[in-house]
Amino acid sequence: MNPRITSIENLIASDPAGRNIFGLVITDQLRLAAQSLRLGRRVGIVSGFYIPQAGDGETDGPPGAKALGDALHALGIEVDYITDHWCAPLFRALDIEPLIEPHDYVTRANPTHLVSVERPGRGRDGRYRNMRGIDISATTFPLDDLFLEATRNGLTTIGVGDGGNEIGMGKVFAEALSTIDHGADIASTVATDFCITAGVSNWGAYGLSGALSVLSGRDLLPTADGCMKDIDRVVRIGGAVDGVTHRHEPTVDGLDLSVSIRMLENIRRQIIPSPLERGESLLVGVLGYGETGRSASALLTKQGHRVRISDIAGVTLESGLVVDGVETGGHTIDFLQGCDLVVASPGVREDSSIRDELHRRAIPVMSELELAFQLAPRDLIAVTGTIGKRTTVELLRTLFASAGRQLTIGGNRGLPLSALLLDSEWDVGCRMSDIPHPTSDIRHPTSLIALAVSSFQLETVVHFRPHIAILLNINEAHLDRHRSIAEYIRIKSRIFMNHRPDDILILPFDDERLRTLSRKHHGRTFFVSHRQAVDRGAWLADGAIYTNIDGTVERLGDAASSGAYPYPENLLSAVIAARLCGLPINHSV
Ligand code: CA
Repeated sequence: MNPRITSIENLIASDPAGRNIFGLVITDQLRLAAQSLRLGRRVGIVSGFYIPQAGDGETDGPPGAKALGDALHALGIEVDYITDHWCAPLFRALDIEPLIEPHDYVTRANPTHLVSVERPGRGRDGRYRNMRGIDISATTFPLDDLFLEATRNGLTTIGVGDGGNEIGMGKVFAEALSTIDHGADIASTVATDFCITAGVSNWGAYGLSGALSVLSGRDLLPTADGCMKDIDRVVRIGGAVDGVTHRHEPTVDGLDLSVSIRMLENIRRQIIPSPLERGESLLVGVLGYGETGRSASALLTKQGHRVRISDIAGVTLESGLVVDGVETGGHTIDFLQGCDLVVASPGVREDSSIRDELHRRAIPVMSELELAFQLAPRDLIAVTGTIGKRTTVELLRTLFASAGRQLTIGGNRGLPLSALLLDSEWDVGCRMSDIPHPTSDIRHPTSLIALAVSSFQLETVVHFRPHIAILLNINEAHLDRHRSIAEYIRIKSRIFMNHRPDDILILPFDDERLRTLSRKHHGRTFFVSHRQAVDRGAWLADGAIYTNIDGTVERLGDAASSGAYPYPENLLSAVIAARLCGLPINHSV
């Protein structure tokens, strides 16, 4: 596995329409598909989804196909674009002359790979259907035949889809059948060797280009400008419509263009080094001078960077803080233009116009958590979950204190990480590249930080890598904001995205949705359960807490007082984390 590509795989599964996309993601397919493509000689890319009600093809598909084709071209791989006569105008709008309905393509062109980007795949009854369950067979040329033939001939096939009814999604047929709307009718039976599920199919293609970028060490993604122009051209010149709204607008699946640009730039953050890795003094924009903005500004200047502060309200600078400039009364791109990066306070929404402007200009935007971690990467314990983050972090501090050790705590609704780092006496100047490969033990046993981390903070992490990550629980109560449980779990799992083999993840065994995340984890996973013994982790039995870290079962004494905890898994998670930090816990907890 490759953490950068796993992180991209997670990002592109962002699920704006609540289609249970993350539930259809097969771990590591993006990396395997990109590795295979990189060895390709000639690749046929099939795309185009015709909307009969609108009389045109949709905006999702061809722009992504072109982005992928451009990336493959840059790697010296020959590319053919393939579609049917209904969708050909979209390709021509992109200055591409596609092969139209080439039934003998596989034998004639002898490609090494076939890739589908948002192209209907036949259902169980052999018919093609859109996501509303409407039969579109009369206006869909059976290009999936090429994939069936390619599979028979031993070619490598890749399918990118976002609904379950596309070529490739036959690989997750059972999941699509049971979780997507009209699944029984529309679920595609056409499987490919590799199946990439994304919130929007274009994003899946950007994700493949991003994975190829990671593997080749080059940025092969389209520019934000180029991406916008392509989507605009398929609408204006190619007559494309949005596949959801059926309107002739440069939107994709009902989403504003800025959402796709944000996705593209977030993928790019995963493949290019952070400006903070340059090891030179940077000009950093600070959006919002509230609690996180203040501590971020102070930490940045302490490390020799210059800051430019922009706030909607008035700004009273901390005494002694020297800044490059202050803007009040709103955020403007003119003020922030020229910054090497911008740190945004939680109050500045992801979809705010200033962030869109920054994305368009490819100025990296990061959260205070990500910034603080990159400024001073160190071993952290991070706790997330719907219920009990804060109390678990406090419990950890108590466990540390009773063993005579200090634990500094903060995070969500507590002190931000940059404030904790400011208060510490530790050297905060080390860069990520200076950090030696972590050992199985915590490196700074006396100077640890534990943070409660919210979903909101995790949504935008890039390099954040807590040595011990604890995912306590998930609760349906948060569905309003995150739209689906699958999407909520996707965001929560970003807490361990960057884990290396020696990093640790603690999961609740009794929740199958979370237990199975261990398959997506690169490091060591420990489980907690209040129902049964687990292979590695902590559990409750006979009124006692048991742990097993390295094959030896330990009984940690009477757990009578654990009855006071409504969420025993949270207590067990704290105990196992403390044990992993080397704390002796042989007394009653
Ligand atoms: Ca789509």
